Amino acid sequence: MRALVVREVGAPLRVEEIELPAPGPGEVRVGIRAAGVCHSDLSMVNGTLAPSYPLALGHEAAGVVTEVGADVSRVAPGAHVVLNWAPPCRNCWYCGHGEPWLCAGLGSPSTPRGRTAAGDPLHVTLGLGALAEEVVVPENAVIPVPSALPFEAAALLGCAVLTGVGAVRRTATVAPGESVAVIGLGGVGLSVVGAARAAGADPVLAVDVSPAKAGLAIAAGATDFLLADDKLSRAVRERTDGRGVDHAFECVGRGSTIRTAWRSARRGGQVTVVGMGAKDDLVPLSALEIFHSARTLRSSVYGSSDPDRDLPELARAVLDGTLDLAPLITDRTTLDGAAEAFDRMARGEGARTLVLP
Ligand SMILES: [Zn+2]
Ligand SMILES: [Zn+2]
Repeated sequence: MRALVVREVGAPLRVEEIELPAPGPGEVRVGIRAAGVCHSDLSMVNGTLAPSYPLALGHEAAGVVTEVGADVSRVAPGAHVVLNWAPPCRNCWYCGHGEPWLCAGLGSPSTPRGRTAAGDPLHVTLGLGALAEEVVVPENAVIPVPSALPFEAAALLGCAVLTGVGAVRRTATVAPGESVAVIGLGGVGLSVVGAARAAGADPVLAVDVSPAKAGLAIAAGATDFLLADDKLSRAVRERTDGRGVDHAFECVGRGSTIRTAWRSARRGGQVTVVGMGAKDDLVPLSALEIFHSARTLRSSVYGSSDPDRDLPELARAVLDGTLDLAPLITDRTTLDGAAEAFDRMARGEGARTLVLP
């Protein structure tokens, strides 16, 4: 079967024949029907997240269970499922304290699984490697969804939407009438924009370095699009009676944009970091401004969500028409076109590309 593989840091992406083991006890095989190209995959390619190589890419996908190993109780062949890149163990301290997104068993960017055509050990992204025709994963890494849910929407729920909606509803708990700024308008950023508007936020200021994102931002629910230039702080203040926003969301994963989000928030406001950045990328904050600004700075890991609980709820919202994911999808391609989608994402073009293998 075929998968999108990167051989080493910065190497070109190639579709390769790979071999996966048959599902062992507690494991399932899933035929992938739709997979998103997410910025975290780019962080695997450029080495920001320091995975092991050769590496099968992809962690945002949906498909159909084709085979189950022994002792699998969660799904049967034929089930439609979304893949979960952070399946909690349900046994550790964090899982026992209602914070399964911080599960002690999670955190490795890559997992050994299967082999290349030449027989070398292969690794898969976040336990999945979903930019592929098939995956073999533990049963707790699949979440059953109704078969009426389109695969494209289902795929997006697995990363961009669970992360974006969770950041707004669960991490920041945005309330009606609060002002919001969203810095960085990729798939996750646009998902934050839509969720903020749905939560009744006003204004919802969408910010990006690329003016081409303006139309996508307004379609996703932004009240205003602002260019991320040196006049940004003033533009944000002009729209918030001179104060800055109640909530600033950073959806890039860079020290400089976390600083931008920090400066966009009002005194006493909240800054939520959704983007995943590099360990040597520092954010300068002075002791005086931390005290004087009275802001809260925190991160949102996987939307502070429990995927087993929250993803089926999002699936219902898509089916009843209250959650529209169409504005997030800007391109569709096949596995052979996926490398080009990474190039577009690296250039900051479009929102999500869906790969239909
Ligand atoms: Zn992702
Ligand atoms: Zn756990």
